[in-house]
Amino acid sequence: MIRLTKSFILGILTFLTVLIFWFVFEKENQTAKVIFLDVGQGDSQLVVLPSDIQILIDAGPSADVSAKISRYIPFYDKDIELVILSHPHADHLRGLLSVLKDYNVKNFMFAGANYESKVYSDFLNILKNEGSNVYLAEAGDLISYEKDPILKILAPLKNTLSKNFKGIHESMVVSELSLGNKKFLLTGDMEEFLEQQLIKSNSVEDVDVLKIGHHGSKTSTSQKLLEVAKPEEAIIQVGKNSYGHPTPQVLNRLNKFGIKVFRNDQLGDIVYQSR
Ligand SMILES: [Zn+2]
Ligand SMILES: [Zn+2]
Repeated sequence: MIRLTKSFILGILTFLTVLIFWFVFEKENQTAKVIFLDVGQGDSQLVVLPSDIQILIDAGPSADVSAKISRYIPFYDKDIELVILSHPHADHLRGLLSVLKDYNVKNFMFAGANYESKVYSDFLNILKNEGSNVYLAEAGDLISYEKDPILKILAPLKNTLSKNFKGIHESMVVSELSLGNKKFLLTGDMEEFLEQQLIKSNSVEDVDVLKIGHHGSKTSTSQKLLEVAKPEEAIIQVGKNSYGHPTPQVLNRLNKFGIKVFRNDQLGDIVYQSR
């Protein structure tokens, strides 16, 4: 009799625990977030939307990204709805090799300009076998979730498929993310040349958060860009490096404009959550 009571209570307790976990998890699942993942010296942004929808922009320089991502995606969800590659430099691309191993990438978007490297050709071969739908990014493209556009592609300004560039940063995929009432400018490694082109074509709006271009290199984040984008906050995706990123020039410019700076090398993952 005593035994029966014990196992009955245990049963009730287990049931309650499961219920609480389910409740907390479901609640967590209903909020939209963007996470600027701490991937060391490189870029990676994960957008998590309700109903298990994920968008990954870049994947950093190493396989470590898979474990990072798994903290923000439920264990049973092995699909990533969309991966966007800003450009094929290894500090944005190499982590995608492990993402393709660990997740089903349903849709893939990139600029498609010519670029030669071992990692990039390996990646393109694996992508072929993955069977993802492949899209070319071009200014004006809108990516929507439940009718509302969540991502707006600002660059490249024209189709750059199989085009040659002196520097691959000229064919950067740049986008604006809208999450709740916050706007984020996601720049990849955009440099001043492209910043000027976007400003000239009236593509840059007033945003709340600027993902600083090219890890805080002095060739990005011009004064003009700060004047037009008017961010209140800036994220610098940076790790240990020998390039001097982020440069004092960029930090001074941000300081002059009174922009609050958040750095992955100081804070780890940086999470914005919309309510
Ligand atoms: Zn780059
Ligand atoms: Zn980079």
